[in-house]
Amino acid sequence: MAKYENLIPRFLKYVKINTRSNPNSTTIPSEPRLMDFAKGLVKDLKAIGLDNVHINDQSAYVYATLPANTTKQVQKIGFISHFDTADFNSENIQPQIVEDYDGKSVIKLDDAGKFTLDPAVFPNLKNYAGQTLITSDGSTLLGADDKSGVAEIMAAMEYLLAHPEIKHGEIEIGLGPDEEIGSGADHFDVKDFGADIAYTVDGGPLGQLEYETFNAADAQVEITGTNVHPAEAKGVMVNASQVAMDFHAALPAHDRPENTEGREGFFHLYSMNGTVDSAHLGYIIRDHDREIFEDRKKLFQGIADQMNKDFGSDRLKVTIKDQYYNMREVIEKDMTVVDLAKDAFAALDIKPLIFPVRGGTDGSKISFMGLPTPNLFAGGENMHGRFEYVSEETMERATDVVVEIAKLAEAQA
Ligand SMILES: [Zn+2]
Repeated sequence: MAKYENLIPRFLKYVKINTRSNPNSTTIPSEPRLMDFAKGLVKDLKAIGLDNVHINDQSAYVYATLPANTTKQVQKIGFISHFDTADFNSENIQPQIVEDYDGKSVIKLDDAGKFTLDPAVFPNLKNYAGQTLITSDGSTLLGADDKSGVAEIMAAMEYLLAHPEIKHGEIEIGLGPDEEIGSGADHFDVKDFGADIAYTVDGGPLGQLEYETFNAADAQVEITGTNVHPAEAKGVMVNASQVAMDFHAALPAHDRPENTEGREGFFHLYSMNGTVDSAHLGYIIRDHDREIFEDRKKLFQGIADQMNKDFGSDRLKVTIKDQYYNMREVIEKDMTVVDLAKDAFAALDIKPLIFPVRGGTDGSKISFMGLPTPNLFAGGENMHGRFEYVSEETMERATDVVVEIAKLAEAQA
């Protein structure tokens, strides 16, 4: 019998439920179906035997508590994951199970074989020889991001309840909506949650441990032109589309996503439209280094200021909004939360894979709310699309990590 008997069945049950979040919504959660799912989680968490199970009303996160079973003073540890799925078809998800994968065959997702998982295209498949993979049927994403995290945290809590000989402090769990649209953590209620340190269980392959993310801002440029007949345009016309192109050309050409990696930041033009009369540019600005990040924003604003000066009027209007910051700034003040994860990996003989994330996690925001929250692997590969898959073995290992962290925190207290 599997060590965590409900881990995979619960995961399969959850992925079949459509929980796609909606980037165009302003409600919390972004879709009524997410509230329905949250209510289902409440039932399941109560059935496991957790305490204090409730939906936090400002965030729609489902919170629950596993009471301590030790007399020692132990830091309260939180485990967080999200149950919404990315902006990709999620109607009628049919998970497929590939038992004892050989690490080299091409896996047909749909019967016709239109979509396949091919190790030549996805070389990470080679890491899964001898394991059981769960894939989509090619028409949808799978939703391992992040229902694997949800199922793992729940399985770990169930395991701790069934094994009272494993001593642990109080554990808080938080399962939330709307991570994929970037707003879920905005309303995270640190006080109601009640943990001293926390982890999101929302990373990729075995061993991932992330505590460094981008600093991130969104930047919009609105450009106002002067439209006159081209025949009589000399000295009069200001072509907003041309101004937009000039603005873009003034940004450093190398600093684009397609030219950068590792700790290199960028300006990413993700949308543009324009006529002679008006134009609009949408960017995101990213950098791991806070100072360089601030300099990037200054440069962006400075180019617009200079152009306005040259025009003698405010043709370009820039709006920059910070989105999240590099959690390392918070976490490096006290590395306990990272060291504890590393110790757990070591105890389980899992090699840590530590890289700066070229993106953010819910923990990027939650860390700045005062709760240091690095990210642990949950197992998913090729997230956000039809080629998403996860192995049962990695999900078991991720569950082991949650149990081990709870156990070590008590032992080290
Ligand atoms: Zn995720």
